[in-house]
Amino acid sequence: MVPCTIRPSLKLSERVRVKDALIFSLSTKVAMAAKIIDGKHVSQVLREEMKKRTQNLLQKNIHPGLAVILVGEDPASQVYVRNKAKACEDIGVHSRVIRLAGDTSEADLLEQIESLNQDPSIHGILVQLPLPAHIDSGKVLETISPSKDVDGFHRESVGALVTGHAVFYPCTPHGVIKLLEFYKLPVEGLHAVVIGRSNIVGKPVALMLLERGATVTICTSRTKDLKSFTRQADIVVVAVGKPHLLTTDMVKSGAVVVDVGINRLDSGKLVGDVDYENVSEVAGSITPVPGGVGPMTITMLLENTLKAAEAL
Ligand code: NAP
Repeated sequence: MVPCTIRPSLKLSERVRVKDALIFSLSTKVAMAAKIIDGKHVSQVLREEMKKRTQNLLQKNIHPGLAVILVGEDPASQVYVRNKAKACEDIGVHSRVIRLAGDTSEADLLEQIESLNQDPSIHGILVQLPLPAHIDSGKVLETISPSKDVDGFHRESVGALVTGHAVFYPCTPHGVIKLLEFYKLPVEGLHAVVIGRSNIVGKPVALMLLERGATVTICTSRTKDLKSFTRQADIVVVAVGKPHLLTTDMVKSGAVVVDVGINRLDSGKLVGDVDYENVSEVAGSITPVPGGVGPMTITMLLENTLKAAEAL
């Protein structure tokens, strides 16, 4: 029984309209209980603020700049790089995309990075992953100057994150945390279950939740009885890469569900790791795919680039 009143002073036709509106709103609530965590909207709001930060930097004669290195012709990577460059332009950050042939030697790539490390017009350096098999990604990431490590993958950045002194948080986990902050979803004292332990998402997001006072459980492909963990969770972050991994029976009523996964179905449809349609009837808040964590990743790359330029 939901308490509601319709003012008796309203005319009959108005009372019918108000009643219809109430019934509609109640029925939609029953069908779709979860609040949508709208990453597209949050990104827009944050990027508007970033435009002002860029203007402030320009007034100090600092034009923030991001260099993106793409090795090879991977179609998905090409799209990601284009999107990153466009996002920079939109907020007034200049971007330099360096496209290298797929057979570029590791030594040449490292030399390119060294030169960007010295370039005062470049504040952030990103090497688009994955790299061709003949190049050691670890070595490449270690060559980026930590002061320009806007992806947050350098060992120094990772160590700083572990000890609570991060300068550059990795972009996707940072995007997850920003979404929780934007919607004022509490973290402290709650149980967060992270599914996935990759260096780029699972581990850092777990550390960031821990830093904010959550009790964190990390589940992996080796976890026995995944459901027994997720059902206890106040916050579930799924970063696996398997459609429909998280189903309704695995989620506690009212839990916050953050879906990092991106999967392309045979039909061409893009989905996350969560059975969104059904889980959104149980969860308290949920990120859609697309339009949830995805847009936040590039937004956090912009954040890190501005931060690097502001640190000068
Ligand atoms: P990854 O390196 O492949 O890691 C996947 C993790 O999932 C591994 O730790 C693996 O466990 C775990 N896992 C696999 N099957 C599992 C199962 N049945 N139950 C529990 N855990 C399981 O992937 P990633 O790079 O972290 O990316 C994860 C997903 O996020 C992908 O869909 C990717 O496309 C997406 N992503 C999205 C963004 C974004 O901007 N939205 C950014 C990055 C990644 P083990 O370690 O035991 O193998």
